[in-house]
Amino acid sequence: MAKKQFKAESRRLLELMINSIYTNKEIFLRELISNASDALDKRHYLSLTDPECKVAKKDLKITIERDKENRRLIIADSGIGMNQEELEKNLGTIAKSGSAEFRAQLEKAEKNIDIIGQFGVGFYSAFMVAKKITVETHSARCDQAYSWVSSGEDGYVISEIDKPEIGTRIILDLKDDTDDEKYSEYLEEFKIRELIRKYSDYVRYPINMNVTKSIPDPTDDKKTIDTQEEETLNSMIPLWKKSKSKIKPEEYNEFYKQKFNDWENPAKVIHYTVEGSLSYTALLFIPSRAPFDFYYQTYEPGLQLYSKGVFILDKAKDLLPDHFRFVVGLIDSDDLNLNISREILQQDRQVRALARSIEKKIQSALEEMLKEDRDAYEHFFDSFGLNLKYGIYKDYGVHKEQLQDLIMFRSSKDGSYVTLKEYTERMPEDQKAIYYACGKYIEDIEKLPVLEKIRDKNYEVLYFLDERDEFVAQVMRDYDGHTFQSVNKADIDLDTEEEKKKKEETAAENKDMLEAMKEALKDNVKEVRISSRLKDDPVCIVADEGLSLDMERYMANDPMNPNSGMKAVKILEINPDHAIFGKLKDVYSSDPQKLAEYAEVLYDQALLIQGLPIDDPVEYAKKITALMIAAQ
Ligand code: ADP
Ligand code: MG
Repeated sequence: MAKKQFKAESRRLLELMINSIYTNKEIFLRELISNASDALDKRHYLSLTDPECKVAKKDLKITIERDKENRRLIIADSGIGMNQEELEKNLGTIAKSGSAEFRAQLEKAEKNIDIIGQFGVGFYSAFMVAKKITVETHSARCDQAYSWVSSGEDGYVISEIDKPEIGTRIILDLKDDTDDEKYSEYLEEFKIRELIRKYSDYVRYPINMNVTKSIPDPTDDKKTIDTQEEETLNSMIPLWKKSKSKIKPEEYNEFYKQKFNDWENPAKVIHYTVEGSLSYTALLFIPSRAPFDFYYQTYEPGLQLYSKGVFILDKAKDLLPDHFRFVVGLIDSDDLNLNISREILQQDRQVRALARSIEKKIQSALEEMLKEDRDAYEHFFDSFGLNLKYGIYKDYGVHKEQLQDLIMFRSSKDGSYVTLKEYTERMPEDQKAIYYACGKYIEDIEKLPVLEKIRDKNYEVLYFLDERDEFVAQVMRDYDGHTFQSVNKADIDLDTEEEKKKKEETAAENKDMLEAMKEALKDNVKEVRISSRLKDDPVCIVADEGLSLDMERYMANDPMNPNSGMKAVKILEINPDHAIFGKLKDVYSSDPQKLAEYAEVLYDQALLIQGLPIDDPVEYAKKITALMIAAQ
């Protein structure tokens, strides 16, 4: 058959493997064994579900052969095998999910070979140690066997071959030894033993190899002779079936990284067994960082499902609630039917009970992490906090109670994270609400005029740095009886009785002037009034009931919808203790006409401080200039 070329991106990965100077080349074995194990899973499953394809459990295995003479290492399995089309598709292109991120990193760091070790790079990693790879395979669903042969960059050839037994043999012609690299090491018994123990011990099928054993010489009992004997190199107990106390943290980490294509250790491991009407073992992980596509449609959440150690389904999403969709891992239950399908999974009562039980465990694991390892939790929250907040406002807040103690906000206290519980527990007794201020950056929020007074009162303000935070607060409405209140809303009540009285007096004294200003500003504001929330700033704008200023700003900056025209109902507040107030009074008594200009300038200023656009910047500049000239 004619030689075929690899798809472009596969070729780049391949080149990288072939020319790799990466020191940890040994991971190729782990990759090939993991593929063999997947293929055995599939065959086992087929055998249990299709009577035509029965196979005895004892015949499911992986065999490693070493041919020192020809410098060949062979990894054979009795798994599902591949037909011609699958060979083409699976080995001619990179199809695997984890490789998308790898490719993205490749683009960025062409020369940084070290990234190889951080990814499960799959089949092609064998090109780090082999100059030629032959794949001989016979699919369980097809009578004809095929070979796939490639020496790397120049493509591959697929041919029909004679191979009666079902499964796949990967034959590696090892590269020649150099001064730095001894590829022949991979033909040594001790080396293979070491690698299997290190990377593949928990593989649930036997990994067999002929090893040298010394036995007594039958002709001379004082001597021994060496014979070859097949031995199973791995312990075969899946990691999740081992007792927790016997598992080292590195084992969990290694397992997680390999199986779930991450290169960082997980932030938390959740491993437990439940006995009862539905018994199961779960091994779950909370990743340290969000996968690159986590907040996109392409991200597929879900847990792997095993029944009695047999792999059934990947990404069973009905086992995870949306708000915990960042969790990865597996569930192994003896009580589930092997024939369970995605559709059944959705409706099954047992499965729903299972999902509820899993959710509870994740919930308490997160609570525990928050309590016992604050740093880790904050790090976790940086990655997945948005998803928890989303969980709160989704479905009209039905999960509010459950999730409200897992979210955090940055606080005006020192910019660090605070939970709502911490916030309400330490708030002064006279504080009436949970205050928040919206903005994109902490520095911007800290400049907001309204914040000064609140800070003076020793009240803490939550910084809502994400556009969605306000939705969250709206859906929650309150926490433990304390309502959420924007510092930019009109009805914020920070005054003592005395202050209130003084404010009312000032307002009454200046009623006409305030009304004249409102006249000048027409429909831009609903009211001009005396403020009690300002300290050093002359004016501010607050929103009346309804759309908040932050929502208005959000909509104004929405590139999809720049002219939505949605506006908050605004109130202009003036600081009666500011010098400008005296000036306004002077102007009003001496030249009431001029007051209109002052009002317009102050209004625009307040908008600018709030980060909102002003209607006519040119007009604004003209007025300022005129005032400057007049002031001379
Ligand atoms: P991944 O294992 O992440 O899918 P790989 O590059 O390791 O990526 O393998 C690519 C694909 O080739 C696998 O998904 C599988 O379909 C197929 N494959 C590889 N090795 C075998 C094997 N020993 N038996 C059957 N199929 C295999
Ligand atoms: Mg693989």
